[in-house]
Amino acid sequence: MSSLDDARALDAADPLAGMRERFLLPEGIIYLDGNSLGALPKATIAAQKDVVERQWGTDLIRSWNDNGWIGAPQRIGAKIATLIGAEPHEVIVTDSVSVNLFKLIIAATRLNADRSQILTEPGNFPTDLYTADGAAGLLANHIVHTEQAGDLVDALGPDTALMLLTHVHYKSGARHDMQLLTEEAHEAGALALWDLSHSVGAIPIDLGGCEVDLAVGCGYKYLNGGPGAPAFLYVREDLQDQLRSPLSGWMGHEAPFEFRDDYVPAPGISRFLCGTPPILNMLALESGVDLFADIDMDAVVAKSAALFDLFETRIEERCGDHGLELITPRDAAHRGSHISYRHPNGWPIMQALIERRVIGDFRAPDILRFGLTPLYTSFADIWQAVEILGEILDSGIWRDTRFAEKTAVT
Ligand SMILES: *Cc1c(COP(=O)(O)O)cnc(C)c1O
Repeated sequence: MSSLDDARALDAADPLAGMRERFLLPEGIIYLDGNSLGALPKATIAAQKDVVERQWGTDLIRSWNDNGWIGAPQRIGAKIATLIGAEPHEVIVTDSVSVNLFKLIIAATRLNADRSQILTEPGNFPTDLYTADGAAGLLANHIVHTEQAGDLVDALGPDTALMLLTHVHYKSGARHDMQLLTEEAHEAGALALWDLSHSVGAIPIDLGGCEVDLAVGCGYKYLNGGPGAPAFLYVREDLQDQLRSPLSGWMGHEAPFEFRDDYVPAPGISRFLCGTPPILNMLALESGVDLFADIDMDAVVAKSAALFDLFETRIEERCGDHGLELITPRDAAHRGSHISYRHPNGWPIMQALIERRVIGDFRAPDILRFGLTPLYTSFADIWQAVEILGEILDSGIWRDTRFAEKTAVT
């Protein structure tokens, strides 16, 4: 039986323990939802004050040049590149994941125009499925074909234009073998597009090593970019000039400030910009991404695995007889950085936990999901969160009707 002191000893030996101080976390809250909305870095507060008061307020429009606003999408993209095994000029920050998916799905299927199938899996993140459907509807003769994870390789064929997968599953936390599946896609003559939303900033990613063609990822989860932070988009260097964004906005033009009538895409990754970047949000994302400059990703990965192991062991010890079913793979190489359990009363149990100031989330129909964010989750947090979950399950307090009420966002 482990004790809170054992967890505290792990915190004392944690090389990342000092990072927690760099976030504004409310006293008494155990935050296990950083995989859905990352916590607020303290540096973001000062940086946002500067961008609003000085840059916008005083420097006004000159800021586009003088404060580097115009180069923010490329500059922040280059910083994210270091986290995903990409070259600096292969990544750009722009739009949302959904919009970036749309741009890349259309661009890729047009490049592979003699093939008509977009291959993905059922249960992929909804926006990936919806966007693929929407894109296919605009193309002539394209269909979205879904296949269970284990059957994807067999489903790749001479008609597959694009394989669209999410690296780490948002519910189960299961991780695909990016290297193998990308190789298989290429073998079949298809392009591979990976959604990194639940992996970037938490687990190792090597887009270059895996020869990935295209990728997108989220800024407001492990990158701590703030609510609705812009997303990023990756295109392998040699593909960039072959692809055309269907959203041919002026910021992706080769010379936006010549105001010409005809669209000519910018060379390189900048052609995937569309409209004017939201500078306040972009710079909030930059503050979040900058926290990674000082840390060793191997330490992040190792701590994620250790937090998971403690959570799982503690659940077995403390809540073993309450019917929680682990759905996340136990092997660290096959998962992301959250842990999920199925329980028929998942919703009210999570609401009771949140009332006790342990914030995780619920994913329909029956999943309790807990994000493990190595920069600010402590081992003591995990120990105490499971203790509180055990008390809630032992007492049955979650049966109270006040926990049954649904909210708009889960
Ligand atoms: C969070 C998430 C998104 C978010 O998409 P937005 O368009 O930026 O809201 C997309 N895909 C996956 C897999 C996600 O987890």
